[in-house]
Amino acid sequence: MIMINEQMKNYGNNRSVIRDLFEFGNQKKAEIGAENVFDFSLGNPNVPAPKYVNMAVRNLIDNYDDVYVHGYTSAQGDAACRQAIASDLNERYAAHFRKENFYMTCGAAASLKIILTALYTPGDEVIVFTPYFPEYRVFVETTGAKLVEVSSDPDTFQIDFSLLEEAISANTKSVIINSPNNPSGVVYTEENIIRLAALLEKKEKEYGHPIYLITDEPYRELVYDDIKVPFVTKYYRDTVVCYSFSKSLALPGERIGYILVPDEAADSADVYAAVCGAGRALGYVCAPSMMQHVIEKCCGMVSDINEYKEKRDLIYNALTEYGFSCIHPDGAFYLFVRSPEPDANAFSEKAKEFNLLLVPADSFGTPGFVRIAYCVSTDMIKRSLPAFKKLADYYSQKEGLE
Ligand code: PLP
Repeated sequence: MIMINEQMKNYGNNRSVIRDLFEFGNQKKAEIGAENVFDFSLGNPNVPAPKYVNMAVRNLIDNYDDVYVHGYTSAQGDAACRQAIASDLNERYAAHFRKENFYMTCGAAASLKIILTALYTPGDEVIVFTPYFPEYRVFVETTGAKLVEVSSDPDTFQIDFSLLEEAISANTKSVIINSPNNPSGVVYTEENIIRLAALLEKKEKEYGHPIYLITDEPYRELVYDDIKVPFVTKYYRDTVVCYSFSKSLALPGERIGYILVPDEAADSADVYAAVCGAGRALGYVCAPSMMQHVIEKCCGMVSDINEYKEKRDLIYNALTEYGFSCIHPDGAFYLFVRSPEPDANAFSEKAKEFNLLLVPADSFGTPGFVRIAYCVSTDMIKRSLPAFKKLADYYSQKEGLE
């Protein structure tokens, strides 16, 4: 008899729909040539890291000894790296963080898994807003806690406060927000962050325990026009930040990010200790050392936002002109498009006939939408537009775009 964990086997066998599309794309590229497949499936940034990032890597390799560059750091992260991040945030947000508030991680996925493991015990509930990053479900359920979905306002994809209030119970341990959002591109307004903070404070008093607000912020700096992303620790005391440099510095394969536990958060020292314990229990040991040294030099820098804005404008303007209904993305690099037929999976299948790879959003908790990751070459976006036009024409001839 083979003794394995069935839950893990299922996670391994049921690949995410995004990965499936990505694999389909690779197969199709081999058949008809990469230039003929318009792959919008993955959030792998195409805009390069600022040149200082590679300069910092070269400088480390050329001028520092191997143990410093490649050796273990302390579990919570290199002190100089954490101090650099604290100083950068203090300057940008008039905050007063210390290096002791930071725990370096292998990206936002690890930040989330660690903080959820640190906080939850079986029976706890965590609230997420649809649409949400599908891995939240895996991260939450493997702690024994329960994921509670709350629908966002269907027109704006901002928080629906009456639904949120109904969903909060005595078991609610935390609420996860992700703004700018993957997959909608929506940024929560300052007014809504203030309302959220007020509601959570009220519920904390009512239930007599903290409700942590976990802000998953890999896209914090990726916003367009004059949009400002409220820095949530300023608005709500019991906030824990999960950050990643995967998107802001275009380093997703380097696996580097952090958890920020502010002093003001309830039981802050215990939460931080539990974060260290969870990192240990999950076997992370320490975040990649070379990248920690790079971040010491480069935190606060961002890939060229104008290039992303050019892509955003190009694809949003074209698709709306063709008749698709799209949520206007103020941040991140995703376009959320209403499926012209009720089943977004069928729409995604139809799009494949035009060699367009669009992710149906059912696993994000929002059926009836597809996600387009436009962090691809501008040239590919331009070449894909005739295919989108044909797809729109197909639906308008069929029954009209809804
Ligand atoms: N959270 C959200 C909302 C994301 O979109 C992603 C990646 O796409 C992650 C977390 C994980 O990011 P990382 O690569 O830093 O682990």
